[in-house]
Amino acid sequence: MDFSSKLLENAVNEVSRLPGIGKRTALRLVLHLLKQPKENTKYLTEALSLVRNEVKSCVKCHNISDTTLCDICTNPNRNAELVCVVEDIRDVMAIENTGQFRGVYHVLGGKISPIEGVGPQNLQIESLVSKVKNGEVKELIFALSSTMEGDTTNFYIFKQIESYHITTSTIARGISVGDELEYADEVTLGRSIVNRIPFEQSLKG
Ligand SMILES: [Zn+2]
Repeated sequence: MDFSSKLLENAVNEVSRLPGIGKRTALRLVLHLLKQPKENTKYLTEALSLVRNEVKSCVKCHNISDTTLCDICTNPNRNAELVCVVEDIRDVMAIENTGQFRGVYHVLGGKISPIEGVGPQNLQIESLVSKVKNGEVKELIFALSSTMEGDTTNFYIFKQIESYHITTSTIARGISVGDELEYADEVTLGRSIVNRIPFEQSLKG
């Protein structure tokens, strides 16, 4: 791509570093900004800068939050003993959208994936096991996507907490294998949480 402006080239290069954005799309976005009032770019860069610098991780569930403890963890109407284990904030958002879950979450921050070099120590697994050990959890719902990495992660956690005899369940799969949670429709996902099945039963299937 030949640019008539170094400044334009630089901006396009930065934008194209984002996932799913090629050089052409980056150019389109930057040219769009150039046609807009200058304030719009200011609001955009300020919002990005603020979220990058100020956002926190909830100390209890590790969800992305503006405060030390997130709104879900501090809500007295949520059942803190019912913990849904998810990969990231997108899963929390998807499950919250169903309106079918009144427990709390534990956000792992990913899935065990030897290929991508993600081991249990890279995820929020130890803090989850601690919660179980401390008797804070009555039921753990595994809600990771049913990929090989998701199953591996579920099983790894299950083995760590098996001896504490809490209820473990997994969301019923109205969702076909390999679907990411975030893409499941709300009704199906909501139903799969209500109709969750004992974890050990899912191992036999
Ligand atoms: Zn929280």
